[in-house]
Amino acid sequence: MLTESTRQPEQAVSRTTIDAGDYYIGTVKAGQTLRILDLEGNQAADTLFYSAADPSERYSAMDTIREQGNVYLTTGSVLRSNENTPMLEIVADTCGRHDTLGGACATESNTVRYDLEKRCMHACRDSWMLAIAEHPEYGIEKRDISHNINFFMNVPVTEEGGLTFEDGISAPGKYVELTALMDVVVLISNCPQLNNPCNGYNPTPVELLVWDN
Ligand SMILES: [Zn+2]
Repeated sequence: MLTESTRQPEQAVSRTTIDAGDYYIGTVKAGQTLRILDLEGNQAADTLFYSAADPSERYSAMDTIREQGNVYLTTGSVLRSNENTPMLEIVADTCGRHDTLGGACATESNTVRYDLEKRCMHACRDSWMLAIAEHPEYGIEKRDISHNINFFMNVPVTEEGGLTFEDGISAPGKYVELTALMDVVVLISNCPQLNNPCNGYNPTPVELLVWDN
């Protein structure tokens, strides 16, 4: 469901740009609202959420999909943890669809899907691994890197139940906003993928804005 926000960028308490192919890791406190802004359009933001108190509790696609009875994420979606606890709620969305089934790119999957020579290409899993290695203070380990949300990515489910990576439906300036229901750690890989249309074959920056309410 398309819903615009009334929050003003100038009232945000923080603004951070994630360069194309880079990562972000940080904490959003309960009650704060995070906006992920697709600056140039059709850019997948591969995102993981963890309980700040205990990173073994993390975003769960299964629990989220089952509880809301829908495979797509948009306004009103409550993101649930592997303990079925509400973590965040999507409170505004001008894109209208976000994927929670397609997973993230990895050098291994790039070789299977595309070509053996793609192994050296940068991938989301590498960005996440770099993030947790450079920021051990969050207590997130390799085994905590699990399935993720692909904000702004379009992976429609066919009538037969098939999945396809399709051209994005996002555009410059589209955004999704989430209010944290617990203190969460946000880990984002701004996807560097060049082999499928998730980034329009041209990775571009995204911006994160946080408001206190
Ligand atoms: Zn990726």
